[in-house]
Amino acid sequence: MPHCHTLIAALRRSGYRLTPQREMIVEAIAHAGRHITAEEIFEQVRSRTGAVNIATIYRTLDLLVELGLVSCTDLGDGKIWYASSHHGPHCHLVCRYCGCVTEADYALLIPIDERLREQYGFVADLHHLAIPGVCAACQSKTNPR
Ligand SMILES: [Zn+2]
Ligand SMILES: [Zn+2]
Repeated sequence: MPHCHTLIAALRRSGYRLTPQREMIVEAIAHAGRHITAEEIFEQVRSRTGAVNIATIYRTLDLLVELGLVSCTDLGDGKIWYASSHHGPHCHLVCRYCGCVTEADYALLIPIDERLREQYGFVADLHHLAIPGVCAACQSKTNPR
């Protein structure tokens, strides 16, 4: 089953009416390489139908995030990036000097997740995390304080 159909089926199972706009939004996310912004989704959907506005995109994205079908993260460029849960949990290291984004091994976060559950009874949303910092190249170039 294509990935967009999996998402659409999950939305239906949760009892949500599937408007053509919602279906197009889901398709845009499912067919995006990995991350996509609300604005990019809007452009894609608008090229297929005039009957859409950015508020519909945001409302649908909120719904998809709430249902755990999509996750979002801030990669330090002032935009919110959305990814389908199909991509699985992952973690980004974002350099605040050059803006480069490196993927980190998600397994590194599992002990943190476990400790937070044990010590605080807290279930953390670590499945799509962006960690700000300074990359190796910038450390050697700029010697930041
Ligand atoms: Zn850097
Ligand atoms: Zn991501």
